[in-house]
Amino acid sequence: MSDTKHVYFFGAGEADGDATLRNTLGGKGANLAEMINIGIPVPAGFTLTTDVCNYFSANDSQYPEGLKTQVAEALKKVEAAMGAEFGSTSNPLLVSCRSGARESMPGMMDTILNIGLNDETVAALAEQSGNEAFAWDSYRRFIQMYGGVVLDMKPKTKNDEDPFEDLLHKKKEAAGVKFDSELSAAHLKELVAEFKQATKNHTGEDFPNDPLEQMWGAIGAVFSSWNNDRAFVYRRDYGIPHDWGTACNVQAMVFGNLGDDCATGVGLTRDCSMGEPGFCGDYLINAQGEDVVAGIRTPQRIESTLSSDLPEGYAQLVEIGKKLETHYKEVQDIEFTIQRGQVWLLQTRNAKRTGFAAVRIAVDLVNEGLITSREALQKKRIPADDLNQLLQPIFDPAAKARAEEEGTYLTKGINAGPGAASGQICFHAADAEAAFEKDPNCQLILVRRETSPEDLRGMRIANGILTAFGGASSHAALVSRQMGKVCIVGCSALNVDYHESTVTVGDKVLKAGDWISIDGFTGEVFAGQVETKPSEVIEVLIGKTKKPEDSETYQRYAQLMTWVDEARRLNIRTNADQPDQAADAISFGAEGIGLCRTEHMFFDHLDEIREMILADTLEERQAAVDRLLPFQREDFKGLFQAMGEKPVTIRLLDPPLHEFLSERHLAEQPDLIHKLADTLDVSTETIQHRVAELHEENPMLGHRGCRIGIVYPEITAMQARAILEAACAAKQEGINVHPEIMIPLVGFLTEFKNQEAIVRETAKAVFAEAGVTVDYMVGTMVELPRAALCADQVADAAEFFSFGTNDLTQTALGMSRDDYGAFIAHYRENDIVPNDPFQTIDQDGVGSLMRIGVEKGRSTRDDLKVGICGEHGGDPASVMFCDEIGLNYVSCSPYRVPIARLAAAQAALDK
Ligand code: PEP
Ligand code: MG
Repeated sequence: MSDTKHVYFFGAGEADGDATLRNTLGGKGANLAEMINIGIPVPAGFTLTTDVCNYFSANDSQYPEGLKTQVAEALKKVEAAMGAEFGSTSNPLLVSCRSGARESMPGMMDTILNIGLNDETVAALAEQSGNEAFAWDSYRRFIQMYGGVVLDMKPKTKNDEDPFEDLLHKKKEAAGVKFDSELSAAHLKELVAEFKQATKNHTGEDFPNDPLEQMWGAIGAVFSSWNNDRAFVYRRDYGIPHDWGTACNVQAMVFGNLGDDCATGVGLTRDCSMGEPGFCGDYLINAQGEDVVAGIRTPQRIESTLSSDLPEGYAQLVEIGKKLETHYKEVQDIEFTIQRGQVWLLQTRNAKRTGFAAVRIAVDLVNEGLITSREALQKKRIPADDLNQLLQPIFDPAAKARAEEEGTYLTKGINAGPGAASGQICFHAADAEAAFEKDPNCQLILVRRETSPEDLRGMRIANGILTAFGGASSHAALVSRQMGKVCIVGCSALNVDYHESTVTVGDKVLKAGDWISIDGFTGEVFAGQVETKPSEVIEVLIGKTKKPEDSETYQRYAQLMTWVDEARRLNIRTNADQPDQAADAISFGAEGIGLCRTEHMFFDHLDEIREMILADTLEERQAAVDRLLPFQREDFKGLFQAMGEKPVTIRLLDPPLHEFLSERHLAEQPDLIHKLADTLDVSTETIQHRVAELHEENPMLGHRGCRIGIVYPEITAMQARAILEAACAAKQEGINVHPEIMIPLVGFLTEFKNQEAIVRETAKAVFAEAGVTVDYMVGTMVELPRAALCADQVADAAEFFSFGTNDLTQTALGMSRDDYGAFIAHYRENDIVPNDPFQTIDQDGVGSLMRIGVEKGRSTRDDLKVGICGEHGGDPASVMFCDEIGLNYVSCSPYRVPIARLAAAQAALDK
């Protein structure tokens, strides 16, 4: 016989397990054992391990050898501990059977209470409790739960009737009562008979009378529930592996429904919505566990009335709460029953909390001396992404719940820019500008099929951006994040009709000017206006509308961030193109600019760039380029002034030129072709012809990146000149600037050298003219597999590397960053990919290329500075990976800087 331990007993002051056995016993089982070990009253029971579940799933619902014997032995110990016997007709023990995985998956799996009741034991329970109605109520609840969970009688669709609820309802009607608790013993007896008949109608067999058969039925149902649909969905959402399995806890029942000196409830050792200290929660007098969550009766608040309802029980609870917090050094979420004045704990676990509460609780626990500042930064206490909630306006939770109830939910897309925003629908940047001119306080949501550089003005004005196409690194997504705007992309259910000025979802049609609300945390879209609340941290740091001393939330944030900066190794930079974005990023703690996308500066000068594109000859192009120079110089000067001595990485022109001028532009703006023809003094046909020439089938793999500067060196020369003239001017003003000029989309060393030569030559000339020199570097983006694989060659000339993981993901996976929205949801739902690769680095693929890039690059140049500036630079899991492979910095959009700081600290502390 196998001697593997499948069953762990706990009760009567001894436990086989403890909190360290979480993987085997699940969170609930491990903590029940741990509570016994620290002297907290817990009804006796035993835990069947997660390995049993995995065996059960893999072996056609069979159990491993030896399990039945171990269960029988453990059951005996439970009987001894509780002084009752399972199946006894004079002193019956009843048990519950509950799931409990390694990570809690609230409500996703099954539970059955009151196992062991039958026509004989129910009489004994009535006798013992002196409460016949209680005994028969427990019995009818048991049949109801067992029927639903084990016999599969739960309604399958929202139109199906629940046979038990139906019978219960009819019984209450017949008895002329409103609440279940008002039914008499006689009514409940009738109900039990009716419930049993219902199960027989469903299964064709009598309801199981044998307590042991009931128990094994329940155990099987709990293990099977690991594989139910909602458990799969939950695991996918929370990154819980499907092969962990759940444990199953069989535990003696205690009763909160024996009378008015009994209660049941769920409590928190502190509030987990805003994080305020103090025991709180919900309870119901004379009720059983599931009543509190089921919403049949409205529970009372522990902090308001339990001390007067059950003073003795309340005092014990508060005491237990303190003991648990001190022991676990974490806020606990507990389930308890008060049976005739005695408190029993049925569960404790680290409480789930909002981002607000996470920060407050972590900081408070340090200030209360319970944990160290390093412990406060643990990922499990404050998932780095949760800091978002402190920075963004959020939907008022009550208002959102109301909207859901009212049926205004429309659809869901890719959550690309966090926060919550409501506004009037606006389809074109020009309309947004017109609305803004009329009313600078206008509230708009820019709704587009996709966005392009021309939409930037509109994006600036809008509260949020919603697009039907594009992915997490699409133009709309990355620009929104940089601007700190709420954004949802790839919302494929939206049908945007620019001509009709409507957006349609199914049969709902919204027009320009109608209100719409978008939740960038979840990707949800609602028709109408959902109220939002502003972030105090933003009011202090960015808006400067609140003083630090007036905001406790800000003070806690600031305290946390000092600990963060002490702990992290990685530097944090920002992706910013404008002085205001740079200033915001500095307020958030950025230590430099990791990516200035120069093309974003061109949107104000579309005429000049279009002339440049359309130029036929070098002279014409040079003339157009020369007109762009002063604008670029001013832009760069602004950036240098905002950043002071901090390093500023400026990337030369990168996107395909057709993003500035294409057939789409001509079609959308009918007067554009005439304007261009007039300015350039050519025919409209010539314009048409040139634009057609520019057309590319695969523009993202076409004439873009350094390929533009190589074919049109005058563009590189102009940009280098603008950067270096601005740098010299800043230096003359006393700012010791550190520009880092970055060449995009390099694959070959020769490409890099070609562009580097132009930059260095220009620098020489500019320094001679200005009479000052500036300390500058020339480096490269690594965003093509070839650049990573040949990094030793590229590093021969490049002074720094920055991983452009948006393009590197696109080129390594052969997956278009603009088109993957069509299938990524399907891929995620079917576990084809563990994450959205454009949000979280694909460590096996893209990550390997990055490792190679770093290693080979540093084999040539051992002090090579390496960073990342793709969207992944603000994703916590990716930041941790960047720390692991030894990057010097990560660069992300301004509003993600605090998140990247925290993730970097967590990476350092994890080591
Ligand atoms: C990248 O490719 O990761 C990058 C930062 O460049 P862009 O997103 O501008 O292509
Ligand atoms: Mg790129």
